[in-house]
Amino acid sequence: MRLAVVDDQLCNSKICGIPCVTFCPVNRIGTKTVWIAENGKSRINEQTCIGCGICVHKCPFSAISIINVADYWGKRLVHRYGENGFALYGLPEVKRGFVTGIIGRNGAGKSTSLKILAGELQPNLGNNGGNLLDLFKGSELRQYFSDLSSGRLKISVKPQILTLGEDDPYMQKTVNQVISSSRDDRLKSLAKEFRLESLGERKLGQLSGGELQLLTLALALSKEADVYLIDEPSSYLDVFQRMEAAKKIRETVAGGRSGVVIEHDLIVLDYLSDYVSVVYGSPGVFGMASRSYGTRNGINNFLRGFLPDENTRLREGAIDFFDVGMGKEEVGRVVFSWGRLKKRLGDFELTSDGGEAKEGSVTALLGRNGIGKTTLIKILAGIVEPDEGAVPTAGLRISYKPQMLRPVDMVVSDVMDAVKDSLSKDYYKTEVIEALGIDKLWNRNAKSLSGGELQKVAVALCLGRDAEVYLLDEPSAFLDVEERLRVGKAIRRVMAIRRSTGFIVDHDLLLLTSTSDSMIVFEGESGRSGHARKPVKVLDGVNQFLKEVGITMRRDPETGRPRVNKEGSILDRQQKESGAYFMTSVSAEVEGQS
Ligand code: ADP
Ligand code: ADP
Ligand code: MG
Repeated sequence: MRLAVVDDQLCNSKICGIPCVTFCPVNRIGTKTVWIAENGKSRINEQTCIGCGICVHKCPFSAISIINVADYWGKRLVHRYGENGFALYGLPEVKRGFVTGIIGRNGAGKSTSLKILAGELQPNLGNNGGNLLDLFKGSELRQYFSDLSSGRLKISVKPQILTLGEDDPYMQKTVNQVISSSRDDRLKSLAKEFRLESLGERKLGQLSGGELQLLTLALALSKEADVYLIDEPSSYLDVFQRMEAAKKIRETVAGGRSGVVIEHDLIVLDYLSDYVSVVYGSPGVFGMASRSYGTRNGINNFLRGFLPDENTRLREGAIDFFDVGMGKEEVGRVVFSWGRLKKRLGDFELTSDGGEAKEGSVTALLGRNGIGKTTLIKILAGIVEPDEGAVPTAGLRISYKPQMLRPVDMVVSDVMDAVKDSLSKDYYKTEVIEALGIDKLWNRNAKSLSGGELQKVAVALCLGRDAEVYLLDEPSAFLDVEERLRVGKAIRRVMAIRRSTGFIVDHDLLLLTSTSDSMIVFEGESGRSGHARKPVKVLDGVNQFLKEVGITMRRDPETGRPRVNKEGSILDRQQKESGAYFMTSVSAEVEGQS
């Protein structure tokens, strides 16, 4: 059986000369297999297509994908976005009384799965007739859809995309209006715990991404429901807010309800899930939901790149580099140093201790939203002048990736022309361009890129410049787990090879701990004052942070990835007592007990 998918956004039959139609060997012998439909897009008959791949290679826009799939997959087809559209096979299970976490690459069908579970999107089973309940015979999902269709299941959804149109009347409401319009005390208490009350008269349209995320999450969790479907809760949130949001999700689902949560922050996902399902496949082409694994196994299988029950390889090779930095003594030349700094911006004041950064090393900046991380990065980059103190950037070449990205109206290959010199180097080609998949975006206009694609281009551009100091503000935003870890690895490799030094602001603790040697921890009050401490070893920085949040972490003995301990578990109590909030090694026996 064959799956032929055409990306209608890339397909442009007006200017390509339609090689997909003219070169198709089946067309040539008179069986209409590839043609241009009324909407001007290429269409392919999957029954007569022989899978030769000629159209795939001839298409100048890489708009066509043809994949051979096993026959039995047909029986699992849940939804097709139109003729030759993206195909979703299977769905993640909803386990009563538990939280199921969903991991997977961007564009693999996670949000689509959630919309189907929410009853927002009616699955068409590929328009092959058939019946949804038959499709899920023998699975918990059969009962689920039967209850859903009879109205016996109450569903509450936190969508991935938060903003409505600018002129939508809802966005004109104030936070107070939204909170007080509910008679529910649960919303009021969530709003308090998420610190939303102080936003009072602010209109929804004026909120920051993090504030809107917390409000939307509070609304979803305050609803009385049987099933909570939460799409990417940690976007725009800082580390404190992520852990708080995860706690609240767990609390809400406890007591016989169910939760399904899509999440790219692996530490958060690990913390909030009881089960994990991997949605794998080829982004934009097809997606397939794995069965539910226990959280630890599910995430470890995902990192190893192999799903044993499905006998499926997710990628070549494992993701395993969680042992860098971490408490090791840095050696080498100091590339960059700065003294005490002070900067006032409106009502906000930033102060900073001095510090230094060595060649080949990466320094993480960790702190709440609105505490001055971006301001410090800009001062270190020489873009913002401090009121007191100085940063000796004279003579240093600095490469900076801002937090907010604005795409230019240019083809990616032209954008990347700015770093031609790097493009001729092997390490840059393999460890940055290919590792981040920039080669696949080469002919796309930057304006047509998704948030994640744009982020990867911005990171590649930043790492491609010839510099001594690299500063990256929130490189993990909009990226999936795999991309985040690849970005982290690319940053490390470039610092090592160029003998430069890097700074990363980010909220993904896995990215920070697996990429950095040192950490600058911010303290203070969001929006009012922030203080950046001097850089310390990552281990000490994470310890300071975890102590403040009141959680402890251990390392998974198999993969080395950090995991949050259950509150009150033996390890949790021991580590809190000894002050080792972040434990660097765990034996397999201890892992078994916790
Ligand atoms: P994920 O949440 O895993 O990033 P989505 O479920 O949002 O992925 O989308 C999976 C794929 O489905 C996308 O890459 C896109 O090709 C396709 N898709 C999503 N929504 C639509 C739509 N409304 N119409 C057509 N195709 C869509
Ligand atoms: P972070 O990166 O930690 O989220 P920022 O450095 O972006 O924090 O901002 C810290 C505080 O300074 C915020 O409250 C922000 O609103 C304020 N701020 C940033 N830039 C300006 C400015 N140009 N004028 C006034 N206030 C500003
Ligand atoms: Mg999504």
